[in-house]
Amino acid sequence: MTAYTLEKSNVLKTRAWNTVAVAIRTGELVPPIRCERCGKDAHLEAHHDRYDKPLEVIWLCTSCHSQTHGKLRKRAWKAIGGRYKRRVKK
Ligand SMILES: [Zn+2]
Repeated sequence: MTAYTLEKSNVLKTRAWNTVAVAIRTGELVPPIRCERCGKDAHLEAHHDRYDKPLEVIWLCTSCHSQTHGKLRKRAWKAIGGRYKRRVKK
């Protein structure tokens, strides 16, 4: 990923997060009570499959959200022929 595309993707992410925050405040988006993946009644985070569609989100608990991004990172590494290594905290 070039610096330009990285910067562009960060702008899209920030814009998407801000759009969600505003939509929650105005009532346009109403988060459900349960995680859409595991059904757990927990703090939910908006997950974007595409940052260019900021209001298309699925609501996930922290654990499911983190797993989803882990899978996406793994897939992205594979796509560029790299090997994905999970960071292990010592
Ligand atoms: Zn969950």
